[in-house]
Amino acid sequence: MNLEKMYEMQKELDARIIKEKGLEGVDLLPNTVLALQVEIAELANEWRGFKHWSNDQEPRFNVLEIGGTDCSEEKLVNRVLEEYVDCLHFFLSIARQLDLPEEDLYVWEETAEDDTVILFSELLHNVGLILADRLFVNPITDVPSFRRDHFKAALFIFYALGEQRLGFTFEQIAEAYVAKNAINHKRQSTGY
Ligand SMILES: [Mg+2]
Repeated sequence: MNLEKMYEMQKELDARIIKEKGLEGVDLLPNTVLALQVEIAELANEWRGFKHWSNDQEPRFNVLEIGGTDCSEEKLVNRVLEEYVDCLHFFLSIARQLDLPEEDLYVWEETAEDDTVILFSELLHNVGLILADRLFVNPITDVPSFRRDHFKAALFIFYALGEQRLGFTFEQIAEAYVAKNAINHKRQSTGY
């Protein structure tokens, strides 16, 4: 599994949703940007590290019982990882809507910022800037590159957050993405 394959899987899921919901020709970018902001907020909510008023600031896990009563096994489901890949779905969908070439999904820069709370705020800020050209009085001359630049800045922060601050490996992220992609296809089939 690699990022290009996940990008392909996202394009297939998006194409299916657009076809089945009759959304051809509709600008879905505003909805998708807001959806990503909502998922980032859900991610922060499961991470919990900013809740200084709470005695419980540990990331949330769900305990799933697998198998019958005699062979029951407990599996810890990392709710932070689940929200992280919900974000990745919308990141890849926005990349598609911005016609981002797949090689541009690999962005990396040095970051001096190692405070997770600040990274979350920076992430939300940069995602909000993707559509900021619509807020300005003076028109932006090159809207596509303005949007892509803010998108790439957000994506870079998102990677840094996942790998450096939340401690996910690429393999964990890819496995969780593939699992959630299948669930999202199933939801389309069952009229979610
Ligand atoms: Mg979610």
